[in-house]
Amino acid sequence: MQQPPDTDPLNPPQRTLMGPGPSEVHPRVLRIMSAPLIGHLDPAFIEIMDEVQELLRYTFQTDNRWTIPVSGTGSASMETAFGNLVEPGDTVLVPTNGYFGGRMESMAERAGGDVVHVDAPWGEPLDPDDVAAAFDEHDPDVFGFVHAETSTGVLQPQVSELTSIAHEHDAYVIADCVTSLGGVELRVDEWDVDVAYSGGQKCLSCPPGASPLTLNDRAMEKVLGRDTDVRSWYLDLSLLEGYWGEERSYHHTAPITNVYALREALQLVAEEGLEARWERHREMATELKEGLEEMGLEMNPDDEFWLPSLNAVRVPDGVDDGKLLAELQEEHALEIASGLGDLEGEILRIGCMGYSARTPNIQFVLSALEEALA
Ligand code: PLP
Repeated sequence: MQQPPDTDPLNPPQRTLMGPGPSEVHPRVLRIMSAPLIGHLDPAFIEIMDEVQELLRYTFQTDNRWTIPVSGTGSASMETAFGNLVEPGDTVLVPTNGYFGGRMESMAERAGGDVVHVDAPWGEPLDPDDVAAAFDEHDPDVFGFVHAETSTGVLQPQVSELTSIAHEHDAYVIADCVTSLGGVELRVDEWDVDVAYSGGQKCLSCPPGASPLTLNDRAMEKVLGRDTDVRSWYLDLSLLEGYWGEERSYHHTAPITNVYALREALQLVAEEGLEARWERHREMATELKEGLEEMGLEMNPDDEFWLPSLNAVRVPDGVDDGKLLAELQEEHALEIASGLGDLEGEILRIGCMGYSARTPNIQFVLSALEEALA
């Protein structure tokens, strides 16, 4: 008989989380996670599901009936979007200006789509003229873009311009809002975004596990009118409709504790007010950015495209980013991150998200960095 491993009760280290996510979880969210479970079809849980949907509509600024948390991390809501909207043979236009455009490409290909690109260097947003040219050349059925690129610290401006171009060509727009929802201005209905998805662990300061997704009726009609089944059973929205729609019938066992956590995190958004929350992120990130610039560090993106929730700063000459991050973790129990993909070794990524977007955290990062770089 196999013997039990010799492990102790779990005692994870305390860290200050100022990287690209997860951000620090609000104490009220942590508290609610120790609440007793109820069944996923219990009327009390159904009421919680309704409230989560209402709170998500507010946070996305949408009236979309189809607004749900997907069970899984941000990649699950991303895969739900691409896996349901993209049918085999559809042409899909995706960006090349960051790491998560690459993930969109893989997901669209796995869904059977033919992928083409709209090019922009890492560290720059998509130019609407390039998007229009790519539409004229390829006439895509689905267009995906990243609103807040966590790998580059770039905020995509002119979202309405992008959605108008797509809609003139009768295409559907999928927006990755993982690092913008609840932290940066986002108006799904006003900007005419067909599908938007996010994660919990960034500006909502919730543990990962239940990931926001919203689709308008037009997008849902495409999903429900598909000629072929969605390749994933688990993420098939036509089946999930039974659980999150009118019927509330069993599809899978919802991650109940994660739904509680998301409910509380969204409640905190509602209490603070969305615009006040966007403003707090901007103010705190400005404090961070000014502090970094005073230390002689240089932000990577142009000010125009600066993303308050993720600050990408250039690694100073002669500094080994790996050693710097290890020192910050060992000496200060502080987490920030290095660059990914094309920007590996070139930037540091400092998050300013949700409950982590507070003056004491910003001051702590600045003083720890100053000491480590001295
Ligand atoms: N999209 C963006 C922009 C992200 O930053 C992330 C995660 O960092 C994801 C998608 C994927 O989310 P997850 O890691 O929660 O699966």
